Amino acid sequence: AGKSTVAKAVARELGFSCLDTGAMYRAVAWRALQDGVPFDDDEALGRLARAHDIAFAHEEGEPVPRRVSIGGIDVTDAIRTAEIDRAVSPVSAAPAVREALLDQQRRIGNAGDYVVEGRDIGTTVFPEAPVKVFLTASAEERAHRRVRQNVDRGVGSVDYDEVLTDIRRRDDQDSSRATSPLRPADDAVRLDSTGRYIEEVIEDICALAREKFAYEVKKLIGAYAAVMGGVDAIIFTAGVGENDALERMQIASGLEYMGVKMDEDANNVRGEERVISATDSKVKVLLIPTNEELMIAMDTASLVG
Ligand code: C5P
Repeated sequence: AGKSTVAKAVARELGFSCLDTGAMYRAVAWRALQDGVPFDDDEALGRLARAHDIAFAHEEGEPVPRRVSIGGIDVTDAIRTAEIDRAVSPVSAAPAVREALLDQQRRIGNAGDYVVEGRDIGTTVFPEAPVKVFLTASAEERAHRRVRQNVDRGVGSVDYDEVLTDIRRRDDQDSSRATSPLRPADDAVRLDSTGRYIEEVIEDICALAREKFAYEVKKLIGAYAAVMGGVDAIIFTAGVGENDALERMQIASGLEYMGVKMDEDANNVRGEERVISATDSKVKVLLIPTNEELMIAMDTASLVG
């Protein structure tokens, strides 16, 4: 409760996608309950997790996905019950389940810019993540939020004491399990949201991401300038995974803005090829893949100055 809301809001603001890994463990727990698989049968749980694909889908007009399905069955609401709350910790402690979901999580997260939410993301799933946040709140506050959320959704327990007990039990179980226990990564920034407005927490995290992005860009410019003896232009292009045609168009319009025309045959403009042939010269261009939201957040003037 809370961290999903924060993760989705941050993703929206940065123009990223968002992955809720807790929902994946919940979906597997749901399937295990349906099939009557015992929670201590690691092998059977692993088989189940590998057999059923978990997919996320967007709701109309929503930029980040909220609906989740397993094996083609929509379980968005079904995984928020008190029964699943109880089942998910033992199921997620099964090493075979973690292994199966780890693969899926990496595949999804590597496909683009992502805010990935979950208990072992910074330590195990994406140890190289550029920004890591370990978000905490008191168990009491989380219980209050969860009850309010359950009232809104119309699923799950609305009994404060029951919810609080469950949160404490899950924290204990998740922190003490052998495989991938809940703990902050050494390089994670710790944020405590107790007693704070959610908007402030969201802003703090976005600021961390923007700072990191600006820092990386400056490093890139320095490194590139050192190797190539200067930079003629920096062009922000569509993020990783966007199509070549779009990137090429952005490069061409960036060059045009500088009064340089890109040669028709300047095809190889991706990857390490940073020198672009223009009509009467070679132009040293640094391409920085990003999206509109991050670009707007950048103080571009400070980069070249
Ligand atoms: O985030 P959420 O409360 O929905 O997660 C449900 C449960 O899934 C957690 O209590 C934990 O047992 C498990 N989980 C996990 N690793 C993750 C995300 C969730 O073990 N990365």
